[in-house]
Amino acid sequence: MEKLLQWVQDKNIKGYKIGIKDIVVENRVYLKCAYGCKDFGKRLNCPPHTINIEEFQKMLKEYNSGIVLIDKVKISEEEDIMKVWEEVRKKSFHKMIEMERQAFKEGYHFAHLLRAGSCNECTECGNFCIKPHMRRFSPEAVGINLSQTLKNINISIDYSKLNEITLVGILLLD
Ligand code: SF4
Repeated sequence: MEKLLQWVQDKNIKGYKIGIKDIVVENRVYLKCAYGCKDFGKRLNCPPHTINIEEFQKMLKEYNSGIVLIDKVKISEEEDIMKVWEEVRKKSFHKMIEMERQAFKEGYHFAHLLRAGSCNECTECGNFCIKPHMRRFSPEAVGINLSQTLKNINISIDYSKLNEITLVGILLLD
C-alpha cells in the first residue's frame, strides 16, 4: 500500500487510505443522479446503466481497503468551468486509471477504480460501450455518499472555489 501511495503522490494526486467500513453507500444518492444530472441515462457509466446500489453494496464488502484519490486542478476564474470540466475530467481519469493498473501490478488483482464524474472517452455513448476497458462508474453512480465518506476520514472539500476543480475517485483494493 505504501508503495502505491507514493506512486499516487508522484502523479500529483493526493491519496488517502480508507477502510471499507468508512465508505458510505445510501439509496438516496440515486436521487442526485436521476433528478438533477444532465448525464443520467445518457452515459453508459451512469445510472440506470450501472450495477444497482444493492449489488454494489455486496461487492464492496468483498474488498479489503481503498485509496481516496483527490486531484485538484487550478483553472483561471475567467474560464468557462463547464468547458474546462470536460478536458480536466478526461485528463484526471487517465491518471487515475493508470493507478488501477499499477495496483494490479502490485498484486491487488481486484483493484477497481470508481472514477470522478461521467465518462467522456467518446463524444457520446451508443447502445453499447465501445471502450469497455475504460468504462468505470463514479462513486455516486453506485450510491456512495461521497461527502460523508470523506468526512469519515477527516477530509473536507470546498467546491465553491472558482479557480479550482476538485476530482475525487476511489480505488478499491484487494
Ligand atoms: S467509453 Fe465511450 S461508450 Fe463507453 S461509457 Fe465511456 S463514453 Fe460511453
